[in-house]
Amino acid sequence: MRSRPVVTIDGPSGAGKTTVSSRLAEAVGMVRIDTGAMYRAVALAALRAGVPWDDPVRLGGVARELALSFRTVAGAPRVYLSGEDVSEAIRTSEIGMGASAVSAHGPVREALVAKQREMAREGGVVLEGRDTGTVVFPDAEAKFFLDAAAAVRARRRQLEISPPGAQSFEEVLRNVLRRDVQDSTREHSPLRVADGAVYIDSTTKTVDEVVEEMLRRLPGVPR
Ligand code: C5P
Repeated sequence: MRSRPVVTIDGPSGAGKTTVSSRLAEAVGMVRIDTGAMYRAVALAALRAGVPWDDPVRLGGVARELALSFRTVAGAPRVYLSGEDVSEAIRTSEIGMGASAVSAHGPVREALVAKQREMAREGGVVLEGRDTGTVVFPDAEAKFFLDAAAAVRARRRQLEISPPGAQSFEEVLRNVLRRDVQDSTREHSPLRVADGAVYIDSTTKTVDEVVEEMLRRLPGVPR
């Protein structure tokens, strides 16, 4: 039995999960786990180790040995791989495509899902990703599916890509649409709305409005 709730936020690329999950976690004093960053870190670690993104067996090994940690530095979430700050290195569009490729493999998903369950065992955690409510914690106390129109998601993604201005809007939109197809049609843990999840379309909503709506739906969390 967990003493504190688990909250899951799933949805496609650029729906606003990162911003919203950070704000929500801060508002209720919970820890945020960015599962997308974990798949990105596997893609980066594999690239550096010369393991191709289409080799499920070796990628499973990379995922199991991943020495990843999350820390908040000066109010911003940072990601560390074997002690090195890789927060920017995992946000390139190449690594985004790599994350989408490596996340399609069963051995990678099994390794990372096990890590995510372990990290959130005690509760008091907000997980964001693609399968956190469907596969990782189907029994989460609160589940959300955050969506937005593709053009709006592409605009938000473009602002996030490192280095700034590296890609045109059209290119980012093409990548967003390609990733939507990859993520929702794959065999393992395709992106879908979890049973019992609250669906929120953020196309015309501010971050504050989305966070408020989530807070209203959190069971037993003091405001
Ligand atoms: O959310 P983010 O863009 O950082 O995720 C990178 C990629 O990792 C996604 O395109 C998706 O393919 C994959 N992913 C996943 N399952 C998760 C989180 C991310 O398959 N729970």
